[in-house]
Amino acid sequence: MKSNYDVIVIGGGPSGSTVATLLAKQGHRVLILERAKFPRHHIGESLIPYTYFTLEKLGMLERLKKSDFTIKQSVQFVNSQGKDSAPFFFPDLDPGEWSSTWQVTRSKFDEMMLNNARENGVDGIEQANVKQVLFEGETAVGVQAIINGETKEFRAPVTIDATGQSAMISRQFKLRYGDEKLKNAVIYGYWKNAIRDEGRNAGATLVIALPGTQGWFWFIPLEDGITSIGVVAPPDHIYNGRSDQPGEILDALIAETPGLARRIVGAERVGNIYTTADFSYRSRRAAGNGWALVGDAFGFLDPLYSSGVMLALKSGELAAEAIHEALVAGDYSESALGKYGPKVAQGMQRIRMLVYAYYDPTFRMGPFVRQYPHLKNDITRVLVGDVFEDDLSELFDTLGRHLTLPPEIKIEETVSA
Ligand SMILES: Cc1cc2nc3c(=O)[nH]c(=O)nc-3n(C[C@H](O)[C@H](O)[C@H](O)COP(=O)(O)OP(=O)(O)OC[C@H]3O[C@@H](n4cnc5c(N)ncnc54)[C@H](O)[C@@H]3O)c2cc1C
Repeated sequence: MKSNYDVIVIGGGPSGSTVATLLAKQGHRVLILERAKFPRHHIGESLIPYTYFTLEKLGMLERLKKSDFTIKQSVQFVNSQGKDSAPFFFPDLDPGEWSSTWQVTRSKFDEMMLNNARENGVDGIEQANVKQVLFEGETAVGVQAIINGETKEFRAPVTIDATGQSAMISRQFKLRYGDEKLKNAVIYGYWKNAIRDEGRNAGATLVIALPGTQGWFWFIPLEDGITSIGVVAPPDHIYNGRSDQPGEILDALIAETPGLARRIVGAERVGNIYTTADFSYRSRRAAGNGWALVGDAFGFLDPLYSSGVMLALKSGELAAEAIHEALVAGDYSESALGKYGPKVAQGMQRIRMLVYAYYDPTFRMGPFVRQYPHLKNDITRVLVGDVFEDDLSELFDTLGRHLTLPPEIKIEETVSA
């Protein structure tokens, strides 16, 4: 086992595998330390089309095309009375190959990504639990991990936190900004033979409003006839005055939701029921001296528009560009490593503003689109994840006249952590 690298990545989820693979492709010596043994369960199954471009750079497209993952071409919203709206079909925006994407079983997808990293030269060690990032003064110089019961140290000029919601570094330095308006609870499970549409909407993610609250259900058609179904709503609405069994709560909430109840007639629940919190947050900094944050370790946004894996991939890609330049220049300062931060933050903020629109009880998207039909394409752009380059100011200026949008969380550059 080597102990010196150019880059150490903590966490082998999509963000960690992305940044590691792209840096290894540039010839850098990269180590991933992953706590779990893959394949392991993970939520976050619905991709959005903009993942295509990073997946292409990673060399993952052929594997995905050969996989049995469901092809996704649309997202469809269903109101609390059970009325289906017209789906947003991504290929209507642009018929290019990129506009179709996949619904993925994450245990398989994440393992494919980690193996792809290894095939590109990354050393990937599973069941390696990183206990701490090592600092010399204010500069990160490596990590300490437990592997097979033994404590090991690994050293590198750059350490990347890709630990997902564990968010090791931003928690340690108290850099997390929690979003008070986006604090939900989640219960989810899997059903066999739920009723899907036919044709090009068969692989759609459905977002089905939960009556009596601003909560919603996801309905994500996976391979082998399995559908992932989960509820996202304020903790009080999910837990107060209900059973203490999550499976019973989920069944009761489904029965209260006509747009979902009719889709699981004759379907059978399979596997475990999971509960989790769904509190959005972002780190105020993207990097420090010798360290950088990617994916959920940088920020987590409500899963309403299935943006998490896209943001994980894109932040990994943009971070890899900045870190490659920093390695070539031998400059591991915060300003060199963190160049990608503002762009990732801008993309997250744009999606966050559309998330606020959904949860605002005074706002309805249908009438908004009818009033401003020329903005429908911009909305679809956000839904596909095209949030990093184009000017979307007309959409958000117009939305801002109809509801209160959240202020931006600025990236702070601080000399000391
Ligand atoms: C309820 C819910 C629904 C969601 N739905 C969607 C969706 O439909 N589509 C979508 O795109 N996104 C969705 N997401 C978001 C998505 O799950 C995440 O954005 C995505 O997994 C982030 O990837 P990541 O690589 O940053 O982190 P993760 O995928 O969480 O990977 C982090 C890895 O780090 C490892 N790790 C943690 N701590 C350590 C340590 N100390 N040492 C070593 N390894 C460590 C973990 O084992 C893990 O493998 C959802 C999230 C939630 C909560």
